[in-house]
Amino acid sequence: MFGLIGHLTSLDHAKAVAKDFGYGELAEEGFELWCSAPPQIVDDITVTSITGQKIHGKYVESFFLPEMLALRRIKTATRKILNAMSHAQKNGIDITALGGFSSIIFENFKLENSPQVRNVTLDFEKFTTGNTHTAYIICKQVEESAEKLGIDLKKSTVAVVGATGDIGSAVCRWMDGRVDVQDLLLVARNRERLEDLQGELGRGKIMDLTDALPEADVIVWVASMAQSVKIDVEALKKPCLIVDGGYPKNMGATLKHPDVHVLSGGIVEHSLDIEWNIMNTADFELPNRQLFACFAESMILEFEKLYTNFSWGRNQITLEKMDQIGGASVKHGFKPLQLSSI
Ligand code: NDP
Repeated sequence: MFGLIGHLTSLDHAKAVAKDFGYGELAEEGFELWCSAPPQIVDDITVTSITGQKIHGKYVESFFLPEMLALRRIKTATRKILNAMSHAQKNGIDITALGGFSSIIFENFKLENSPQVRNVTLDFEKFTTGNTHTAYIICKQVEESAEKLGIDLKKSTVAVVGATGDIGSAVCRWMDGRVDVQDLLLVARNRERLEDLQGELGRGKIMDLTDALPEADVIVWVASMAQSVKIDVEALKKPCLIVDGGYPKNMGATLKHPDVHVLSGGIVEHSLDIEWNIMNTADFELPNRQLFACFAESMILEFEKLYTNFSWGRNQITLEKMDQIGGASVKHGFKPLQLSSI
C-alpha cells in the first residue's frame, strides 16, 4: 500500500476545504486550532495502471500550513511532519511520499535525528520525497512545451530559481547533461551553495533574481517560498516559458501576456481516472487525473514494488535515477501536464 502526506497551501485555503475533510469546526477556528490538530487519514485511493495493475493507498493530512514557517512556528511545523510520518507507518503503509513542504521541513530541520515519535521508531526506508519524479516531470514539461512554442533549448537561456535545491539542482543537471542549453542561470540566496553547484556542473552563471528573469527564454521556478512573489511581466523576454514547480506556487497572480506562457510545474496527468476525493481540494482542471508528481512517485514505487526511499537526502538526484523513475512513470500511464493555451 502507498501513502501520501499532504498539506494545504494557506490558512484561507485550509478553512475553505475543512468541511470536505469532515472538520467543519476547523473552518470556524483560527490558526491555533490547526496547530494542535493531529494527522488524519482523510482518503482511500485506488489507482489503475495502463498495464491493468491496481494498487491501493491512503492520504494522510498533516494539518501543516506554510504560515507555520512564515511565523517561525518551527516546533509546530516539525511536529506536524513527524506525527504524520508516524501515523502513516502505524497504518501499515509501505511507501509514503512526503508532499510539498513535508520533505523540505524534514531536511532543513534534520528530522532524521528524531526517528522516535512516542512509541513508533520511524523507518525512513518507508518514505520518499518524490523529488526525483518531480524533477524528471519538470524537465519533460520544459522540453515538450519549449518545442511547442518554437523555443530551441540548445540556443536558449534557462534560469533555474531555487537552483541549489533538491529539485532545482536535478533540473540543472538535466538542462546541462541531457539538453545542453546555451546558458544556464543559477538563482538562489546562499552564495556558497551556488558556487558549489557551479563547480559541480562546470558551468552556469550565478545571478540575482531581478537580473536573471529578463535574460531567460525559459524560467524554471522551484524555490521553497512560503509565499508567492509577483513578477513584472513587461520585463520578461517574449516569448517566455515559465514552469512554476513551487508549492504553494512561487509566482503571484497569473501573468497576463500572450507571449508569456505559464505552466504548473511538477504536475502529472494519469491516463485513467484515479478513485479518490482528495484532489478536489487542489486547484486542478481534472482532479480525477491530475496530481503532484511527488505523490505519483509513491504510486509508481508501489506499482513496481520498490519499497525503498527512492528519493532521499539533498542534492543526490542523478540523471540515471530520473531515467529509471521516468521510464516507470510512462509504463504506468503518467504524463507531464502540458500547456493548454497552445
Ligand atoms: P529545497 O529546500 O531543496 O530547495 C529550495 C531552493 O529554493 C534552494 O535553492 C533555496 O536556496 C531556494 N530559495 C528559497 N527561498 C528563495 C528565495 N526567496 N529566492 C530565491 N531562492 C530561494 O526544496 P525542493 O527542491 O525540495 O522543493 C522546491 C519546490 O518544489 C518547493 O516549493 C516544493 O514545495 C515544490 N515541490 C513540488 C512537488 C510536486 O510534486 N509538484 C514535490 C516536491 C516539492 P536559498 O535558501 O539559498 O535561497
